[in-house]
Amino acid sequence: MAIVEREVVRGGQPPTPEAKPEPARERLPLGPLKTIHVYWLAGMSCDGCTISVAGATNPGIEGLLAGVVPAMPNVILHHPVLSAEAGAEFVQSFIDASEGKLGAPYVVVFEGSVADERIAERAGGYFSAMGVEAIKGGVGSRPVPTATWLRRMAPGAAATIAIGTCATWGGVPAAEGNPTLDTLYALATALDASLADLIAPPPAPEPPRLVRAGEGVRVRGTAVEAWLLDTVTGPQCSTEVYDLRLRGTRRQVSEGHPPGTREHLHLYAGSALVGPVDEPVALEAGDFVTFDATGDHVYRRLGGSVSGLLVITRVRGAT
Ligand code: SF4
Repeated sequence: MAIVEREVVRGGQPPTPEAKPEPARERLPLGPLKTIHVYWLAGMSCDGCTISVAGATNPGIEGLLAGVVPAMPNVILHHPVLSAEAGAEFVQSFIDASEGKLGAPYVVVFEGSVADERIAERAGGYFSAMGVEAIKGGVGSRPVPTATWLRRMAPGAAATIAIGTCATWGGVPAAEGNPTLDTLYALATALDASLADLIAPPPAPEPPRLVRAGEGVRVRGTAVEAWLLDTVTGPQCSTEVYDLRLRGTRRQVSEGHPPGTREHLHLYAGSALVGPVDEPVALEAGDFVTFDATGDHVYRRLGGSVSGLLVITRVRGAT
């Protein structure tokens, strides 16, 4: 007969295992680079690449930022969405890197399509930009396209990474045949625009148009003499600009213009009575008046040699 050994459970507490000292945590040394800056630039992107990287594991972005991933340098990330800095303080580090003043190696990561900013520039705009800088030889500032940052920073970078399909080969914005004619018509309808408004190339910039004193088309009335300097006509509004003079002491009463018309007068010199027939106002040099010109209105010189800039605007479809 076989004898079966059984575990015998005795009463009382189980024996306490002998405590062993915890092994010392080993941390592999960092590689030859201790720290590296990563400059993240976003072109025409959906931020999906950022979300992918932020959610990555093995290693996670937190480990890279904390410098605890073996053999990896401590990453200092400059990211337009994830960084705590903002405004000029945030952009300064990009400037330092692009001007070779960082004093540390850096990597450029570009997310999204690299836009051909020359197309947008012809219309006075931009596709994607980060930060602003003073206009060279001009007045004011303008946004700096991320394509410009890429051109400035890539030559000095230890590596430049095109992340995602957009940065790699253009992605959706570079796709041929997109959008289709149906989509364009739907967009035009929604925007109350014509198809040509959406697809026509932007008009070439016009050179300045100069009108010398007395060269505009001249119109005269009882007391008014004016030279048409310019007209701007759009689908919803038209504007006429006149160099205006008042002569003599007689009143010039003009009949009301179509609905939506206003007159705006900035008097340069002299004094004059201007406005609706029922409530004209006396103007001195430097004064400005704007009034509804759909009713009869009056212009009359009060004193001096009267001159000013008259602008007539009309909103179409007004009632
Ligand atoms: S590759 Fe382009 S579309 Fe894809 S997640 Fe990145 S930015 Fe978005």
